[in-house]
Amino acid sequence: MGYIKKAYREILNWLDNHSEVPKGWNEFVEKQEKYHNLIIKSSKNQCYCTNCNHNFISTKQINKQVKCPNCHNKYLIKRSNLRYYEFKDYLSILDMVNNTFVIRYFELKTIIDAKHEPHSSVVEFAREIPTNTYYRDVFVNDRVSICQCHIYIHHSDNNYFNPKKWRKYTRGYSPITYSIVFPNNIKNLLKNTKFQYSCIWDIAKHSTYIDLQELLKDKNEHEINKIEILTKMKLYNLALEADKFNSKGSFEKIFGVSKEYYPFMKKYNISYTQLKLLRLLHEKNIKKIRYLQNFVLYGDSTHDLEQISKYISLNRFIKYAKKHHRNIKMYLYKDYLRFAKQLGLDLKNNKYAFPKNLKEAHDKLEDECYIKENPKIKKAIIKRGKELSKNIYQDDKFTIIPARSINALQDESKQQNHCVRSYAEDYANGNCDIYFMRNIDNPEKSLVTVEVQDNNIVQSRIKNNNEPTKTQLIFLSRWEQKVLKGAA
Ligand SMILES: [Zn+2]
Repeated sequence: MGYIKKAYREILNWLDNHSEVPKGWNEFVEKQEKYHNLIIKSSKNQCYCTNCNHNFISTKQINKQVKCPNCHNKYLIKRSNLRYYEFKDYLSILDMVNNTFVIRYFELKTIIDAKHEPHSSVVEFAREIPTNTYYRDVFVNDRVSICQCHIYIHHSDNNYFNPKKWRKYTRGYSPITYSIVFPNNIKNLLKNTKFQYSCIWDIAKHSTYIDLQELLKDKNEHEINKIEILTKMKLYNLALEADKFNSKGSFEKIFGVSKEYYPFMKKYNISYTQLKLLRLLHEKNIKKIRYLQNFVLYGDSTHDLEQISKYISLNRFIKYAKKHHRNIKMYLYKDYLRFAKQLGLDLKNNKYAFPKNLKEAHDKLEDECYIKENPKIKKAIIKRGKELSKNIYQDDKFTIIPARSINALQDESKQQNHCVRSYAEDYANGNCDIYFMRNIDNPEKSLVTVEVQDNNIVQSRIKNNNEPTKTQLIFLSRWEQKVLKGAA
């Protein structure tokens, strides 16, 4: 139980004794309560709206959302055998005591019971005094229980929980950070403070779940000005991350996209992550952007998608991801693409860009890249090419030469569309010999790739793993007899 310093204790006490909720708060809570409803679906697609008690028919599936045709709200569909369902939201009020800001946190909880009736209650459970340090001064009352890093808020009003008994809340438990902020009193409270032109009240009105303390803490005039500018542009969610933007320069310089995207950005009140995706996608398509958000891990890190977009367009990535039901291991895929590029595979071709078994394809290319970049193997191949040069042979139509370098091997497999490349290690170690048979008048172009073991041709392949023609086979057989086996 943390110690609360005297000045803070006085503020908390003052609020307990003079506590009044601002005008409009009840309406605000009621508005939020509206979201805490379900559509209950029974047999024959019969649907029931827990908000307005309306009955209607819908073929939409369980756990999808549907709009009630009577109250026009969108709710989640649940089966009629549902016994219990719970909604929870954090709401907050900004207050001021002795010129000090206080954020008061409330939990709004709605239980849908077995009769499918909603019961809502709202209780205050935490208060925060914004600071300019990393540590946050958050206090919780007796309603809060902490269990395995999660907090539970008791809503029942009995004598057991004393809502006026405050204790310091230590970070490390689930943070009380984001809340739906009551907007109506903010403008008035910020009058005659450095935030008086900040328009933070508009952000509260247009963005749900914001970290109000983050907006109020440690801001200089310049930073507040940036918040104001973004809010006035009606880019409320971007205003929440105003520190990520420069305030000077052209639209394109500030946002990283050209001004023609502004109406789109405004219309969807896009977030910072969405802006980053827009920069990569270059398309005014909120559906695609929301789909791509599924691949953004760890806050707003779009790193994986940025990497991927270097190799294939994000539109193609979406196609691939949909094919695999979104089940793409990003760290594997971005590496896979890098290897493929390094090995000269044509990523415009879906065959290479969209591997069926990603893990397998990734591991295979990783090995090949390892071989390609391994200086020992590189050297060994050059050495083997020199050794096998004694077997060079030609007639008036064809010539046959050994693979002289890793690049030559790679080039051959790229031209032929097969995987001689994977023989590189065996070739370097002397486990097999690789030769290229070419037309004399076009010696750069691949024709037949030949694998030899113990002076026997074990494999000969033309493009796309097809068999060579009869004349080509005759040439090869003559070479095998005359040169490899040394028959006169
Ligand atoms: Zn309804």
